[in-house]
Amino acid sequence: KLEGKTALVTGSTSGIGLGIAQRLANEGANIALNGFGDLDEIESIRVAIEESNGVTVRYFPSDLTQVDQIEAMMLSIAQELGCVDILVNNAGMQHVSPVEDFPVASWDKVIALNLSAVFHTTRLLIPAMKENRWGRIINIASAHALIASPYKSAYVSAKHGVAGFTKSVALEVAGDGVTVNAICPGYVWTPLVEKQIPDTAKARGLTEEQVVNDVLLARQPTKAFVTVDQVAAYASFLCGDEAASITGSLQSIDGGWTAS
Ligand code: NAD
Repeated sequence: KLEGKTALVTGSTSGIGLGIAQRLANEGANIALNGFGDLDEIESIRVAIEESNGVTVRYFPSDLTQVDQIEAMMLSIAQELGCVDILVNNAGMQHVSPVEDFPVASWDKVIALNLSAVFHTTRLLIPAMKENRWGRIINIASAHALIASPYKSAYVSAKHGVAGFTKSVALEVAGDGVTVNAICPGYVWTPLVEKQIPDTAKARGLTEEQVVNDVLLARQPTKAFVTVDQVAAYASFLCGDEAASITGSLQSIDGGWTAS
């Protein structure tokens, strides 16, 4: 259903972004991959997505905390893949620390990646989407775009910012065939979650097992992690014509977390 479309999925070398890239390729979209990791591994992922779906997949290694690298990436994508029709702002990072000890550099980095990069990719791609009178922008926010947890002040601030940005831009482009939505997942088992378990254990004085059961899954009434495939399927739905009236919305996929 997405034949002839091109999707940029930021942070797509791992976790949720990789799942979304695979899903959109499966539906016929050409893909711009972005993110960090082992270059040989990324090349095998790129070739596998390309070959199993008969689409074009290119990899752009830009660091999205750097505005000049985002701008350069957009030029390279335009040259190699043409216009971007679907933008999935997924790259993100976490830092867990009490606010009084929060390293200033970590604050700046979390805000740059989780919030400012979303602004930059959007501002750079909106003109072509408006001209084509079709576009989809999907921001992977978080349950933390709606509610807070302690020791995640930068992440929660950035994700609440993404929620506001999503609504504001959706209103600006509502008459142009471009929809802008945020998906707000609860805990999805990915490297991002796995990596924060030791720091959360330290900050709260718990064992790692207690963090999984008493902190993470305790928040989700389903007592199960959300899966990457569930988020990817929803992103794919938002790309379709059936979703043309869904814009400016924050879509929870959180096992009931934010219902309570
Ligand atoms: P992940 O750590 O598995 O993947 C993050 C991706 O971002 C990787 O491809 C990584 O290389 C890339 N990345 C990191 N820093 C980058 C940078 N400076 N420039 C470009 N790319 C960079 O994480 P994930 O769990 O798949 O998270 C993806 C998104 O989903 C994030 O925005 C995260 O906040 C959000 N999210 C995750 C969960 C969860 O439970 N995993 C829940 C809610 C929201």
